[in-house]
Amino acid sequence: MSIMEMDQAYVAHTYKRFPVEIVSGRGSLVTDAGGKQYIDLGSGIAVTSFGIGDEAWKQAVISQLDQIQHTSNLYYTEPCARLAQMLCQRTGMKKVFFSNSGAESNECAIKAARKYAAEKHGAGCYTIVTLENSFHGRTLTTLAATGQAHYHELFQPLTPGFVHVPAEDPDALEAVIRRQPVAAFMIECVQGEGGVVPLSRGYVQRLAELAAEKDILLIVDEVQTGNGRSGELYAYMHYGIAPDIVSTAKGLGGGLPLGATLLGGKVENMLGFGDHGSTFGGNPVSCAGALSILSRLDDAFLRSVREKSAYLFQTFSGAPGIEAVTGLGLMIGRKTKRPAGQVLSACMEKGVL
Ligand code: PLP
Repeated sequence: MSIMEMDQAYVAHTYKRFPVEIVSGRGSLVTDAGGKQYIDLGSGIAVTSFGIGDEAWKQAVISQLDQIQHTSNLYYTEPCARLAQMLCQRTGMKKVFFSNSGAESNECAIKAARKYAAEKHGAGCYTIVTLENSFHGRTLTTLAATGQAHYHELFQPLTPGFVHVPAEDPDALEAVIRRQPVAAFMIECVQGEGGVVPLSRGYVQRLAELAAEKDILLIVDEVQTGNGRSGELYAYMHYGIAPDIVSTAKGLGGGLPLGATLLGGKVENMLGFGDHGSTFGGNPVSCAGALSILSRLDDAFLRSVREKSAYLFQTFSGAPGIEAVTGLGLMIGRKTKRPAGQVLSACMEKGVL
């Protein structure tokens, strides 16, 4: 059997894979089993921000592997503590819960928000308002948070307590608040799966104002937008807002599984002993790699993201075959005149993923 046949035979068919078997990579290039090279413009879906095989990250990971690859969360480890400190110092948040993925970082955000709202406003206050076309993950609860009905259909009943409203419509938020107690608003500043659509500054600021007025927690999902991709460390920093909870993953780990839920002052102590946990969360190898990534996401690096972004927006705007360009920083969507599938195949032939 070829690897592709073996994968077809034994791996669950949840991904519609392209017929490319990746065997190695360096920088922005990956090589397939036949030796053909491609530029990976997707960075493994917003993960390998410093490139594949990034030396500094690799050294940090290898040196931690030489020390210890895992211990349980019953004990302290240095990379975990240092990464939490660095995340708090860079954002003003107060505490961090580590997990392994974006969905888990959102699960933690949802649990912290529910507990805060129940303690502060009573057991009836649990509703979390998210936006239509949002994407927050594939566990049953983060699917419920996701505002795209087609993901919901086959998996009923989902976790209750989520309401979806259209983006850019503050009246819809106010209508929900009038109708029922609301624990939190949860947003992506740029809707990724929803089409790479940035929310407007006016809307996000109004949403944050409403949240502050009513003691509704503001959760920002930075799983895809975070860790430098938008041209700021976290995309919410473009918007002049101060979230209560920030969830992130993907690029933070640089290619190893890592999720982080950053908890602000209101909720920093909301999750206590036994309220939440994870066997691998805060794994020392993932955290050592993440420290290397986060420490290099400095002002100069973020400026270079913004400069490259301006160049790409300018280049794509009005270019042949492109109908629209949207996004923020290096999270860029292009609406093509031809069906996107055809464009992807043509790009792949030319060595562009
Ligand atoms: N939230 C957003 C905004 C995402 O884009 C994703 C994944 O693409 C997730 C959550 C889920 O992350 P994961 O696949 O790591 O669970």
